[in-house]
Amino acid sequence: VTRRRVFQTSLMSALLAGVYDGDLSVGELLTEGDFGLGTFDGLDGEMVVIDGECLRMRADGTVTPADHADMTPFAVVVNFVADETIEVTEPVTMAGLFELVGHQSDNYLYAVRVHGHFESVVTRTVSVQEKPYQPLRTAVQGQATMDFADLNGLLVGFESPLYERGIGVPGGHVHFLDTERTRGGHVLDFVMTRGIVEVCVGTDLELRLPLRTEFGEAELTPDDLAEQIEATENQRTH
Ligand SMILES: [Zn+2]
Repeated sequence: VTRRRVFQTSLMSALLAGVYDGDLSVGELLTEGDFGLGTFDGLDGEMVVIDGECLRMRADGTVTPADHADMTPFAVVVNFVADETIEVTEPVTMAGLFELVGHQSDNYLYAVRVHGHFESVVTRTVSVQEKPYQPLRTAVQGQATMDFADLNGLLVGFESPLYERGIGVPGGHVHFLDTERTRGGHVLDFVMTRGIVEVCVGTDLELRLPLRTEFGEAELTPDDLAEQIEATENQRTH
């Protein structure tokens, strides 16, 4: 087994607390990995990093290359190497996909790259936030939910162990981008009819904490952490 390092800036719990501005540029992020996901300052779009390129998917439905000077308050990247490849020939949902991934152990991090055909994909994209920032639970009330049907695309995802709750999103965090790279967002669910699933097993985690007052002062272990993650990352709000 080759050790693989997952690099992450900030914490899921910091996003929940409304820490939406970071201190890491896209250019710096791309030196840490060529594959991953995240968001941009002010929650101005969902991020996908693929083949060393960083793309921004906004709530208005546009997909544009991010500038290297753009900043991120939360992102996870890895230099992706496929340790395992799984061919999917029967329909799977998001939960079904993550059952296929990491079946040997629940205790590592898994980066998941999927090229597939989708019967349906439901994504959301949060709208850019104005200061003073509200907690994520409030911010997602204004999210744009999009339903895609019968299309080819790419999933960029990470499955984190339960012990990472608050650091990441246990059970899986996935962003979608269509093959033409014109549409996408943060995935709430999908049905993939066929696809190739590549898995990169993360054995090392480098966590970079933002040197910002808002981060230093944020409440990062709320009593209802699990509930907040479920409400903000996995559910339709309307
Ligand atoms: Zn996301």
